[in-house]
Amino acid sequence: MKFKEILVRYGELSTKGRNKKDFINRLRDNVRYSFNDIMPLKIRAERDRMFIEIENDEKSKVLMERLPHVFGIQSFSPVASCGKDLDEMKELAIEILEDYRDAGDITFKVEVHRTDKTFPLNTHELQREMGATILPQFSNFTVQVKKPDVALRIEVRDDAIYMMAQVIQGAGGMPVGSNGKSLLMLSGGIDSPVAGYLMMKRGVRLDAIHFFSPPYTSDNALQKVKELANGLTKFGANVRLHVIPFTELQVAVKDNVPDNMSMTSTRRMMMMVADKVREEVGALGIVTGESLGQVASQTLESLTAINDVTSTPILRPLISADKLDIIKIAMEIGTYETSIQPFEDCCTVFTPASPKTKPRLDKVQHFESFTQFDELIERAVKNRETYIFPQKEVKEDKFADLL
Ligand code: ATP
Ligand code: MG
Repeated sequence: MKFKEILVRYGELSTKGRNKKDFINRLRDNVRYSFNDIMPLKIRAERDRMFIEIENDEKSKVLMERLPHVFGIQSFSPVASCGKDLDEMKELAIEILEDYRDAGDITFKVEVHRTDKTFPLNTHELQREMGATILPQFSNFTVQVKKPDVALRIEVRDDAIYMMAQVIQGAGGMPVGSNGKSLLMLSGGIDSPVAGYLMMKRGVRLDAIHFFSPPYTSDNALQKVKELANGLTKFGANVRLHVIPFTELQVAVKDNVPDNMSMTSTRRMMMMVADKVREEVGALGIVTGESLGQVASQTLESLTAINDVTSTPILRPLISADKLDIIKIAMEIGTYETSIQPFEDCCTVFTPASPKTKPRLDKVQHFESFTQFDELIERAVKNRETYIFPQKEVKEDKFADLL
């Protein structure tokens, strides 16, 4: 096995000045978390890059498969190293390039970076010397300086020579957890898991909350949401899911608020419950999958009426996204197939025939004022079920007798 390590280049965190150390530590912890199943993993974190030791082919395969999902990584490369001896270097270079011998015609260059200024050959000399050794050995290689198919990068560092030929794109973004925690309102639909993913990419750790209305919504619908919450954990962190018994509140809204305003009122109840749970779990923001104009509850007027119940920042990463673009991301991150399973969500069941697209806040407030919603909200918060993903054991289900 020629490659002994994987070199990881940091993403945006390199620009973070004094927070840099925290970011690097967080990334290292997240890598450990993501590769929990192949521990121990030796990780060496330096100021500008990180090295993960590859002990065997099996570990290497898992690392190459999963590293592209870890946020905070710009790119990574399997890297080999040798002593500062020209013969050793030539031998290693040829060994690395063997992988491309049968790959058809290839454009190629040698790229030298020399930080050890005591090395006897300077950058150009070394480049020429290595090129002159390599090229006659590979009849399918031609030299091309700009955008070659393969660039053999040789780094002459103080401790050793490092060589790599492949740069693999990382997920970018920031390490999950480096930008605090928020509560994701997770329905069973296409949008909210995508919204959660995008916030995780910006370094936000998530708890999720789901509103469940048995017997109007089935256990299948809840199962689907659990699957989605679990799916989000592959991006580098545990996700806790709070399932709220929402039937009582939803029925109270239906019975006390006129039909055309019940949708707005339901959303306000959801937001109030979410805000209380948010506070209890120590999250700073609430994330939703809302996208402007998509449905009646997502007009600016509706969003204003919903927002009115809290001053907590509501993060809506999809607000300007087109549905087709959202679907594309859902497919890429593997949530789409789960999201399109046809199980009713609590909102779909109670959706009135013609919800107001421009609800008036004062009217909604007026109709809500005749009912003691506070008590119902408290009860919903208190009676929530919490699940932790990735899930190791199945918890007993409080909702079982309601279904
Ligand atoms: P999604 O595809 O995420 O369900 P949607 O386009 O169906 O979104 P709505 O049903 O209007 O839109 O929901 C808007 C947002 O409200 C959702 O993205 C989600 O964040 C939140 N939401 C809706 N229903 C629920 C629910 N049952 N539990 C938790 N959050 C919900
Ligand atoms: Mg929905």
